[in-house]
Amino acid sequence: MKIAIDGPAAAGKTTLGKRLAHALGFLFVPTGAMYRAAALAHHRGLALEDMDITVGEDGRVFLNGEDVTNLLSNPELDELSSRLAADARVRARLVELQRRIAAGRDVVMEGRDIGTVVLPDAELKIFLWATLEERARRRQREQGGTFAEVLEAIRRRDERDSTRSCAPLRPAPDAVVLDTTGKDPDEVLKLVLKLVEERRARLAS
Ligand code: C5P
Repeated sequence: MKIAIDGPAAAGKTTLGKRLAHALGFLFVPTGAMYRAAALAHHRGLALEDMDITVGEDGRVFLNGEDVTNLLSNPELDELSSRLAADARVRARLVELQRRIAAGRDVVMEGRDIGTVVLPDAELKIFLWATLEERARRRQREQGGTFAEVLEAIRRRDERDSTRSCAPLRPAPDAVVLDTTGKDPDEVLKLVLKLVEERRARLAS
């Protein structure tokens, strides 16, 4: 079974994805972190052809064999990854890697274009959403900074991610849209586990 979780920045995709994958015993693939690793590679001067990104247990991300997970969450890579993600060559390379990782196994994959481009045949597609203000509050708790700065950075990134010509952020027509504003991670996980059970029952009948 393949589960796609898409949505705007700081909507809780990674929190949900990790916990969902853990509950189901699936591999968790954080494609946002893969774009961040690609941005780190670019920053280090690595050519696209020389960049290999893999995913391990618990959504850990490896760049040419080095575990870079702890280097990926900061405002500089938020911005650089989103700019790099508009490049069709970068996307082609990462989509190829993502499909290879997902081939023949159960996965929970999070990102922007998973339900629309990477895994269009996913059995369950979730589009996770929350208001801009709530997402800015969540991101500020993780990364610090002033509320106004964090909100503006997210707003800019959402706009770039949604308006780029290549694989823009948008819900797949068959995605379930979940508004997580005011909901805690346990509530969201419970809701999605119910959707998984419903989907499994439908597939089995
Ligand atoms: O989700 P996260 O904030 O870690 O993603 C970083 C950036 O990577 C996003 O702003 C987006 O531009 C890009 N991205 C993408 N497609 C994906 C996942 C992330 O374009 N599937």
